[in-house]
Amino acid sequence: MDDRIDIPGDEIAPQGCGPVHAAVTESLRPLRQQVFERVRAAGAISRAQVAKDLAISPASVTTMTSDLIEAGLLCEVTAPREGGDTTGRGRPPVALGVRPDAHVVCGVKLSDREHSAVILDFAGTERAAVTEPARGVETPEDMLAALVGLVDRAAAAAGMPRSALSGVGIGVPGFVDGVSGRVHWSPVLDRRDLDFAADAEARLGLPVTLDNDANLVALAELWFGVGRTRPDFAVVTIEHGLGMGLVVNQKLYRGALGLGMELGHTKVQLDGALCRCGQRGCLEAYVADYALAREATAALGRIDEPALPVRALLEQLYARAKAGDGAARTIFHRAGRYLALGLANIVNLFDPPIIILSGERMRYDYLYAAETLDEMERLVLNSGRPVPRVEVHAWGDLLWGYGAAALALSALTERLLGAMREEAS
Ligand SMILES: [Zn+2]
Repeated sequence: MDDRIDIPGDEIAPQGCGPVHAAVTESLRPLRQQVFERVRAAGAISRAQVAKDLAISPASVTTMTSDLIEAGLLCEVTAPREGGDTTGRGRPPVALGVRPDAHVVCGVKLSDREHSAVILDFAGTERAAVTEPARGVETPEDMLAALVGLVDRAAAAAGMPRSALSGVGIGVPGFVDGVSGRVHWSPVLDRRDLDFAADAEARLGLPVTLDNDANLVALAELWFGVGRTRPDFAVVTIEHGLGMGLVVNQKLYRGALGLGMELGHTKVQLDGALCRCGQRGCLEAYVADYALAREATAALGRIDEPALPVRALLEQLYARAKAGDGAARTIFHRAGRYLALGLANIVNLFDPPIIILSGERMRYDYLYAAETLDEMERLVLNSGRPVPRVEVHAWGDLLWGYGAAALALSALTERLLGAMREEAS
């Protein structure tokens, strides 16, 4: 799925003025792919409507869809009748849909607490889902073994062997280069600079695409959530870390090296609190689960007590705050202020039309209470216009898995339609 624009290195610009390289626009993408993606997004759609939506002739839609049907990627389905006609008289209208069983992919989230996997068919419908406890920080070998076991069990739950899958998407927290598949650093792996996608591909015997978990949350929103109807949005996700994804014109913005959008590691304090990345003063070190847990130990008077898992510790802290405990409330309130600072920085940098706070749990409602949004408004440049809307979207445990599966589906689509292009030429 290499759709990155080349960054010209020492290229010498010719005479003239204006950008040398054409911008990548929707209209330059292969028409057959646009037709396929239009059908997938609509669920069921008539050929006439596809022609209308893409402003192309019905004849070319007919040609391209018959290629796609012949390739086994699309099929004819019965369209829902318009105007609630349930008499069933006459021939039912024919529409196009993605052939669900053409391909099946697996989306995996690897984390230090639990791993999860979701199996989606080619039309994006869930076939199975599996969640398993994780063992914390692992060696790359152990993590790959856990990955293979998880994919096998997820495939089995969908009633198929692993070899029947057409691709696997994997989400890993940390600094991950989605294009090369390298993991530069991850809090769940005990080594740096790993060719994780290539190693996973070798172990699974399947095509693998990889990205960091925050990008996958953005993809999950774009493919299955709030972002389906919005071309531009920012996603902020608060879990054990603080992640961000930025979607511009329906594309994930990754930065030149695929390492951008690290909101959690933007500095909010010189020489500040120690972050998991090894640096100081990162936003994450004030907002993420582990940052709250650090303060919770003292606030709950547990300093000399046996250590609790982060999740249990935070549940206790949250219960105390709900019961009116001042110290517990202060911890959440302070974290909420830092979150507001991060959100305001996003607005001042990107001015997105909407920010989606998205997560598996999103249960510590103090963090994104009205006060947090008020604070954000105070920190955004005062232009007299309303600040972007902030929407909270709580998913189930499978959020990242869905994002990873969308990554796999997207890579698979590029591969399949690219192959059709080569055959045609
Ligand atoms: Zn950091």
